[in-house]
Amino acid sequence: MKRYSVFAVAREAARYHTGWERAWRSPEPKKKYDVVIIGAGGHGLATAFYLGKNYGITNVAIIEKGWLGGGNTGRNTTIIRSNYLQDPSAAIYEKARGLYETMSQDLNYNVMFSPRGVMMLAQTQHEVRGYERTAHANALQGVATEFISPRRVKEIVPIINLHGPHYPVLGALWQPRGGTARHDAVAWGYARACSDMGMDIIQKCEVTGIRTEDGKVVGVDTTKGAIDCDKIGGVVAGHSADLAKMAGFRLPMESVALQALVSEPIKPCMDCVVMANTVHGYMSQSDKGEMVIGGGTDGFNNYTQRGSFHHIEETVRALVETFPMVSRLKMLRQWGGIVDVTGDRSPILSTTPVEGMFLNCGWGTGGFKAIPGSGWAMAELMAKGRSALADEFSMWRFKEGKFIDESVAAGVAH
Ligand SMILES: Cc1cc2nc3c(=O)[nH]c(=O)nc-3n(C[C@H](O)[C@H](O)[C@H](O)COP(=O)(O)OP(=O)(O)OC[C@H]3O[C@@H](n4cnc5c(N)ncnc54)[C@H](O)[C@@H]3O)c2cc1C
Repeated sequence: MKRYSVFAVAREAARYHTGWERAWRSPEPKKKYDVVIIGAGGHGLATAFYLGKNYGITNVAIIEKGWLGGGNTGRNTTIIRSNYLQDPSAAIYEKARGLYETMSQDLNYNVMFSPRGVMMLAQTQHEVRGYERTAHANALQGVATEFISPRRVKEIVPIINLHGPHYPVLGALWQPRGGTARHDAVAWGYARACSDMGMDIIQKCEVTGIRTEDGKVVGVDTTKGAIDCDKIGGVVAGHSADLAKMAGFRLPMESVALQALVSEPIKPCMDCVVMANTVHGYMSQSDKGEMVIGGGTDGFNNYTQRGSFHHIEETVRALVETFPMVSRLKMLRQWGGIVDVTGDRSPILSTTPVEGMFLNCGWGTGGFKAIPGSGWAMAELMAKGRSALADEFSMWRFKEGKFIDESVAAGVAH
């Protein structure tokens, strides 16, 4: 695979861009692979990438029922942060945030990581106490965050109204090296690197069954025929419960739609990400100038990937008090994705009751930021049978009652 560089861009410009190679191959499936990854979202592709890069396992197929990155990975609002309360969460999200810092160089693909800072507003006394506690926990975990005053909030975000009649801004949890990245580019960069290592990305191919013998994985049934394999990584986000059902077990998981919207492009007015969890809305400005806005999940289980008018109304109404300028914005488009939410709002990275089958799911409303860390840990789990980063996220915790309660950090945030 040719390297992308400034010289390559100049060369191609001189010959009208006729010499670029396809970024990844689209092969027909082989009869057998060492590993089949189900789901070509960011987590599936990152898992495959680190299986190859860290463990030399490259006889891998990544099977996707739609198109790669077409699930939540291409639908999210791209917030990256690691300011979680519990130690296992801070460890995996901070690992991921660190990998984002060098991802463009590591993948030779510009993922536009922008560490512009993430601010979580405290708008009740309860939130002030919660975020102060998180800042102390982060200090112990080695995650750089601080609790800042309303005055500092206003300095960083001049367009904010601190004195809303219902919810004044009382301070904020500030992570200066949090930020955003281009979501499609993350999927495309991993896909290109996986294909370059000889892995097969098979799109428009749905896994319809898990084949086992004596409780051990022997392959998958797909809409392109049966494929044999020794190990399966199930990484299908909102469809995890369906996949578990195919393999004969149940997951403590709910699937719900999460929606987002963008405004018309406007001049630069906000150069960080602001989340207002009490009123349930958050906002950042894209490089094109659109205000990228998101809110909470739908209040009922569903598999809808569309937006709805009541959501626009609720989210925009929530934000107007803190950002009065939002009332003058025209909204351009909205969409939804199907997220998989566990009871303790923490993900599952785990072995399963089926030998050779592993699961990576439950990232809920906030898994984009975790993609490289999750792929790193899942690859280690699949290659070596254990990963220190994944230990606490086993699905068996729901049986043992060892929950990782992130409902404050992750329940309504992203
Ligand atoms: C509107 C919205 C905003 C969000 N905002 C943020 C944010 O700001 N920050 C953040 O960190 N996270 C955010 N998230 C969450 C984040 O997008 C997800 O946690 C993350 O993208 C999950 O990635 P994934 O690879 O696990 O899943 P996906 O990208 O959904 O990939 C799973 C893939 O599996 C495929 N699949 C399913 N079943 C099968 C099958 N049987 N056979 C083959 N393929 C199958 C699907 O087609 C899909 O492509 C947001 C999500 C949404 C919807």
